[in-house]
Amino acid sequence: MFKKVISEHTIQGNEIFLLESQNDKFDKTVLIIGVFHGEEPQGEYLINRFLKTDLMNLKNKLLIIPCLNPDGKIKNQRQNSNLVDLNRNFPTKNWKRTEKNDYYGGEFSASEIETKFIINVLDNYRIDAILSIHAPFKIVNYDGPAKNLANKISSLTGYKVQSDIGYPTPGSFGTYAGVERNIPTITLELPENETDESLWAVNKSVFSYFAYEF
Ligand SMILES: [Zn+2]
Repeated sequence: MFKKVISEHTIQGNEIFLLESQNDKFDKTVLIIGVFHGEEPQGEYLINRFLKTDLMNLKNKLLIIPCLNPDGKIKNQRQNSNLVDLNRNFPTKNWKRTEKNDYYGGEFSASEIETKFIINVLDNYRIDAILSIHAPFKIVNYDGPAKNLANKISSLTGYKVQSDIGYPTPGSFGTYAGVERNIPTITLELPENETDESLWAVNKSVFSYFAYEF
């Protein structure tokens, strides 16, 4: 059902890959991304759980990156192995070089292999919506023309919609994909201190929605 269509290796030699559903007929195309931040592994768990379900007659084409930041995941750290926060490394109009803190955006925009991997995916497909899975704020954040979609995801999960996360995020993926490329982009912030099982119980409806309804 899913085929690995793009593969790349990080500077530590770990693989990043894109899975594409092999349904010839489809309505929309949705990109789902897990583990932007290495210490937020829940997204990959949910994705793998979803991939094990009975996936028949998908309405939409699904593009899935189970783990964007395998180097960070291995070290259980937010950033990649260059200590760059990938969610501040995108070539947005507001990108700027910052001091080397936890949110360091890199020496220049799109300096990182992981960032370029996503840009390549966006350049190669016509994508109708993006679901990027993070933790731990228990909210549905969105960028670009995604207000109604965010309300829908909120109604499925019970997590509140928050359009602004409360602090500036120059070079963020949401600004890049949502605001500047105009692709409806949902940042699903999962709650912390929840078991994988209870996260799946709540969020499987989000996966079903993007696969069969959206
Ligand atoms: Zn995050």
